[in-house]
Order: sequence, then structure tokens, then C-alpha cells
Amino acid sequence: MKGKTTRRPPPKKPSNNQKDPVGVYCRVRPLGAEDEECCIEVISNTTIQLHAPDGLKANRNGEFKETQYSFKKVFGIKTTQRELFADVAKPLVEDLIHCKNGLLFTYGVTGSGKTYTMTGSPGQGGLLPRSLDMIFNSIGPYQAKRYVFKPDDKNGMEVQNQVDALLDRQKRDSQTSVPKTPTTRRTDPEFADMISPEEACKAGGVDEDSSYSVFVSYIEIYNNYIYDLLEETPFDPIKPKPPQSKILREDQNHNMYVAGCTEVEVKSTEEAFEVFWRGQKKRRIANTQLNRESSRSHSVFIIKLAQAPLDADGDTVLQDKSQVNVSQLCLVDLAGSERTSRTRAEGSRLREAGNINQSLMTLRTCIEVLRENQMCGTNKMVPYRDSKVTHLFKNYFDGEGKVRMVVCVNPKADDYEETLLVMRFAEMTQEVEVARPVDRPICGFAAGRRQRNQAFKDELTHRLEERGGPVDGESPTVLNQLLQSFHPLPPCEISGPNDDVTLPRLIEALEKRHKIRQMMVEEYNKTANMLKSVLQEQDSNLLSKENFIQEQRGRLGEKDKMIQNQKNEIDRLEKKSKMLEYKIDILQKTTNIYEEDKRSLQHELESREQRLQREMSEKRRMETRMQGIVTDAKLKWEKECERRVNAKQLEMQNKLWVKDEKLKQLKAIVTEGKTENRQPQRPSREKDKVAAKRSVSPSPVPTGPLVRPLHRRSHSAGGERWVDHKPTTNVDLDTVLQPNIPNAIKVNAPNEKALSKCDKYVLTHQEFASDGEIQTKLIKGEVFKTRGGGQAVQFTDIETLKQENPLAASRKRRSSETGPDGEPMERNWTDVETRCSVAVEMRAGSSLGPGYQHHGYPKRRKP
Ligand code: ADP
Ligand code: MG
Repeated sequence: MKGKTTRRPPPKKPSNNQKDPVGVYCRVRPLGAEDEECCIEVISNTTIQLHAPDGLKANRNGEFKETQYSFKKVFGIKTTQRELFADVAKPLVEDLIHCKNGLLFTYGVTGSGKTYTMTGSPGQGGLLPRSLDMIFNSIGPYQAKRYVFKPDDKNGMEVQNQVDALLDRQKRDSQTSVPKTPTTRRTDPEFADMISPEEACKAGGVDEDSSYSVFVSYIEIYNNYIYDLLEETPFDPIKPKPPQSKILREDQNHNMYVAGCTEVEVKSTEEAFEVFWRGQKKRRIANTQLNRESSRSHSVFIIKLAQAPLDADGDTVLQDKSQVNVSQLCLVDLAGSERTSRTRAEGSRLREAGNINQSLMTLRTCIEVLRENQMCGTNKMVPYRDSKVTHLFKNYFDGEGKVRMVVCVNPKADDYEETLLVMRFAEMTQEVEVARPVDRPICGFAAGRRQRNQAFKDELTHRLEERGGPVDGESPTVLNQLLQSFHPLPPCEISGPNDDVTLPRLIEALEKRHKIRQMMVEEYNKTANMLKSVLQEQDSNLLSKENFIQEQRGRLGEKDKMIQNQKNEIDRLEKKSKMLEYKIDILQKTTNIYEEDKRSLQHELESREQRLQREMSEKRRMETRMQGIVTDAKLKWEKECERRVNAKQLEMQNKLWVKDEKLKQLKAIVTEGKTENRQPQRPSREKDKVAAKRSVSPSPVPTGPLVRPLHRRSHSAGGERWVDHKPTTNVDLDTVLQPNIPNAIKVNAPNEKALSKCDKYVLTHQEFASDGEIQTKLIKGEVFKTRGGGQAVQFTDIETLKQENPLAASRKRRSSETGPDGEPMERNWTDVETRCSVAVEMRAGSSLGPGYQHHGYPKRRKP
């Protein structure tokens, strides 16, 4: 009745952050006798180099391919089993003894030396026998008696009381079928054949105040079924029962275990090794019976080490389940990793092979996902459940423990391609990390209990030997002392009937003795009573102490629970913080991307703004330039317009004047006719005056019939007099060539008086020529006397004076010279006025048009 059992802290969630990568080792086996070409070279104690064999090189266009792979350590062909063990498995065994779990597996293609590495051969024991040996060498003296530890069927371990254990032991001894049959000895190698005693290893730091016990299980996974190789099935030679497969379960600490799997308690390396061979034998038999290929199965040898502290006295194992620690080391010899096509498997064998490959594939996938999760902080589900092998070892990867892998390679060229795949898997595996196991707390008893107990026992036997004979408890010493304290009895031989000395003396002596006896009885009773009371007192003391301890245990349990809860909480928070960190990281990255974008956009914006600015200023410049051109053109045109208006006015006036004159002449004819027909009716002076006034304006050749034939007045040269008529509207053209008539009467408007005095008339008339230049016409005529006494002018002659711009003429010439066919090509264009008009026209029509191009402005894009 040692109180309630508190749950062992589950190793499921490691509270430590420390992680170790999976230790991957590489072992290169020697080439076989018939193999010649080698494709592997060990180039350092951590690196190997693979080179493609000749045949393959040719296939790949002669491409010379060499690849290097690094490992925690590389073991060359000369490596002994002992050296390999010291590097690879020894630390795992040490961990096992210190309550930490370990997993060691061999990986490689068939024939690469996995089994040789794990099991070995006589004289060359592999990792398994060596591990067993080291375990027993270390805990040998501290092993508990058989059946003290007893596995429950839930992957846990109980401590039996001594009586039950003893009964179990007796039962075992009475059974004759103890697996120490001489028949197996002959065929299977014994442990002694595997390892020589001088190679023995021993772990340090074994807790002497604990008691240990080793249990082994041996299973085989074939075609994704689990078989117990140690299960004792009654052998039926007539109808052998096919082996029953086992299932995996999860225990209360979330560890996976094979439900109902035999766990054999072994007390020595020899015994353990014998059990191993028993399993091997069963495996061989099953393989032959069921026509299976052993290279296609995974074999798992599980060494469980149970340890519990000795009680305070140091003589029995503390019967408290919560104090029992169980650690295990799994030694796995995996199936050959080669692809199915390599072996000539057919039908169901092929399917099986597929499944086996499947389990290795799942292993690879799990490792891949684990690595990705760990490296990228993702939380992808690892598909452990997809195969039994990975499911069984799930705890090692997501719980805690040490995982090591020995990659076995055969350097022969035939294996090159498969070896390449093995190497890739190995490289990937090295990147996976597994939580480092934590140290477990030791129980609260004082250290050195076992030694003290041993010393006490030694002392006791020593004393017993001294006193001679086994007498109960302390009585021999006390009795002897008491016997010695009595006086010897006087001689009690009676000499005769009258001897009355002897008897009284004897009586006296006896009475004395009786008295002493009574005294002693009294003393004894007194002491006994005292002792009783003391014992009672002690008892009650003990009881209260026990109560106290009970109470403390309860509290401890609560505290444990609290600690566990807090640990869980911490775990949760840690996970959360990791997640958040990851998120922050992502956000940071996103921000960076956005910032980069922003910067580039800003840059672009700036450059665009600059371009816009440039274009704007360009536009402004162009605008001012255009404005200049427009005002220039406008000014020019205004001037031109004014000039043309003036000329037109002049022309119109002249026309008016001519018409007036004609009218006047007509009138004169009419009036003259009247005077001839009706003499008395003479034109009034007034009317004549008006007519005369009218006739002043020069008129073109008279349309009406003249009364008398026209004849020129005879006059001598120089005797003629001119009326020089220059209308006020005429523009002063600043010309050199000017009509200069001597003795002329200059008038702005012709009058009768001037005409009567002269016989010649000249009108200076300005008008536009066809080319737009002003030309001056001198319209000459002769003055006649009309019958009515008035004057008439008959125009006879016109002289034309024309001004020409020589610059324009020369330009015309030039342009005509450049013409390809001698024609003045751009005549219209080179003319100043046309050009202006075109420019203006362009300005009016389209805001910016081809007119600009004609003016020689640089070509530009339309906005
Ligand atoms: P696997 O288990 O990988 O199929 P084995 O362990 O059965 O391969 O090895 C095949 C053969 O090669 C065996 O005969 C074994 O003795 C031999 N062998 C393997 N590795 C070595 C080694 N390192 N040194 C010597 N022989 C070896
Ligand atoms: Mg093998």
C-alpha cells in the first residue's frame, strides 16, 4: 500500500527545445569476389564519392558524372564491427541506461550489408549482440530478480511484490520447457561465438540505487503486417497455423506499441541472444513455409530496459509504478530499398514487394515532410500512419529520442543507380531534427542505499559465522551472557543417607537461582512492557509519518499535474510564438515586396513627371513661338488687307467716275440734240454748269456717237498742255519712275476750267496687278470741245508702271533651278504671300498641322 500511482510524465511533448539531427552514418562494404567495377570511393571520413559506371556513362552521352555525399561519419571497408559499434550504437546504449529512447536502423539495397551490420556473423558480432552485451555488462550486478518487473499489457511496467515474483519464479523453474534446449545450441551461433570477452563494453554512470531488468521483443513487418517472432505457439506438425498479425496501439503516453507482443525478460547477454536466435529461426521457417523473401521484410528487435529505485532500506525494489522508468532501444534491419523491378518478382510477390516498397516510400515521405516542416516552419501532416514501420516509430520523430541510421552501400557498379537513390534519401534524412531526450528526475531517497544494505548484510553474515550456528536474532549473545552470569551449581552427588549437607546446599543454590529467575522474569516483563510501549509509540509515530508522507505524495501529485499543465501551456505558447514569428516573417517579406514596388512606382512617377514638365515647357515654347508667328502673320495681313481695301476703293471710285463721265457725255449729246431741234430752248447756265462739272471726270472711250468727227487739234510739239489728274486716294509708292509733265495743271479732281485750258489729259490710276503688286496706270486722253460749249475727254492711251521685288524673283529662280524637270516646282510655295496665307490657313484649320512642317519646324508627335 504505497499510495496512489501518479502518472509518469509523458515523454510525448518534449519540454526542451534542444534538437539533434538524425545521425546518418555510411558504411561501405567490400566488393564481392565476382564484382570488378567499383563506383564508390571514400574520400574522407565524412565524405564518399559516387561515379557513374562505364556503361551508364555511355548512356548519358558520355557525360562524366561524379557526386559527393557527406555523412556524420563514413566507415570504409576496413572498419571493424567493434569500431562501428563504438561510434554508432554505444551512445544509444548509454542513453538507454539513462532512461532515454533510441532508434537505430540500417538502410540500403539488398546485399549492401544491413544484416551484417546489425547482426553480424560469428566472430564479427554486429550492433545488436554488442548492444546487448554492453547493457548486461553495465547493469549486471544491479538487475532485479526475475518477475519483479512485470509488463502490463499496455506498454507499461509494474513492480510485483516479492511473494508474487517468487511464485512466478517457481512456476518457471517447474516448467521444463525453458528455452535452454541443447538442440538449438548446435545450429545457432551462441553469443560466445560472436564477440570475444575482451571486446566487452560498459556504460558509465549507472545508478546503483536502482534495480534493472531487460525485456526483449522481436517483430517482423512483412507486407505491412506485423508478426511477433517470439510468440510461443503450440506447434502442430500436421496443420501448421499461419502466424497471426499484430496491431499497433497507442499507450497513455502516446507511444506506439505492438499490442499483445511477447516481451521476454532476459538476465544475460547469452539468454537475450538466444531469444534473438529463436526469433530468427521462426522467421526463417515462416519465410520458407510461406515462400517469402527475407530481404523484403523489416525486422525490429526491441530492447526494453525497466528501472526502478530501491526502497529506503536499499534491499527491495520500490513498489511504486510511477517510479518505474522504461526506456527502449529499437534495432531495425529494414528491407532492401531497391525498386521492385530489380528483383524478378511476379504476381502476389510483386504486390507484396510493392507494399514493402510502399513502406519504405512512406518512410521517405515522412522524412521529407518532417524536413519541410522543420525547415520551412510549415505544419504539414506527416503520414506516419500510411505504413506500419513509420507508425511504430512515430514517437521518435515527433516525440523525443535519438535516431541513427546506418546507410549500407555495396560499391559494385551494378548497384549504382539504386545507391544513388539511397544517398539522396540519406542526405535528406540528415536534415531532420529530433528532440533531444530530457534527463529524468531521480527519486527522493538518499543515494548509496544499495551499498549500505549490502554492507549491513555482510556484517550480519560475518557475525553469525563468528558466533557459530544460525540462531535467531540477537538471542545468542544475550543468552550466553546470562548463562555466564549464573554461578555454577554445587556438586549434587549425595554421599550417604546421612548426607544433609549436599541437599540443603543444592536447595539453597536452586532457590537462589529461582530467585534470580524470578527477578529476571520481572525484569524481562518490565523491559518487555517498556519495549511494547516504545514500539506502540513508534508505531503511532510511523503511522502519522506515513500519513504525512501520504499527504505529501498527494501534494506532489498535484504539483506534478500543475507542472505538467504549465509545461503544456508553455509548449502551446511556444508553438504559437513560432507560428507568429513565421507570420511576422511572411508579413515582413510582403512589406518588403510592397516597398520595393512603391519605390519603383515612385521612381516611375518622378520620371514621368519630369517628362511631363519637359513636354509642358516644350509646349509653352511652341505656343509663344506660334503666337509670334500668328501676330506676325496677322500684322502682315492687316497691312495687306488695308492696302487691298484702299486699292479697291480707288478702283471703285475710278469706275464710278468713268460712269459719271459717260453719263455726262450722254447728257451732253442729248442736250445738244435738243438745242439743234428747238432753237429757242437753250440750256440754262445752271444745267451746263452741272454737266460741265460732271464732265470733269475722265471717261473711257465714249460709247455715244460724237456729233462731229474726232480730230486732233493741231499743235506743235511742246505746245500741248496737260491736265495731270492725281486722285487724293492714290498711295505714295516711293517709286523712282514718276510721270513728269512740264506745264501741266495738277488737279486732284478735274474741273472745267482746267480742261478748257488744256488739250491733253492724264489720270494716274493705281490698281492691283494679277500678282497682287500695285501697278500704276497712266490713262491718257485728248480733250475735245463739245457742241454745248463743254469739254470731253477721249481716252486714247494707257501707260503702265509696275513695281517688282527682285528678291522674290531671284528666289523663284533658285527654286526653279532645283526642280528636277526644269519646272518651277514650288513657285506657289516660295512666294512670300502664298506662304503666309498657307501658314495662316494652317493655323486656322488645324491647331498644329502640316503647315508647321513646311515652315521647317521639327516633326513632333501629335499630343
Ligand atoms: P543485406 O542485409 O543488406 O541484404 P547482408 O548483410 O546480408 O546484406 O550482406 C550480404 C553479404 O555481404 C553477406 O554475406 C555479408 O557477410 C557480406 N558483407 C556485408 N557487409 C560486409 C562487410 N562490411 N564486411 C564483410 N562482409 C560483408
Ligand atoms: Mg538482410
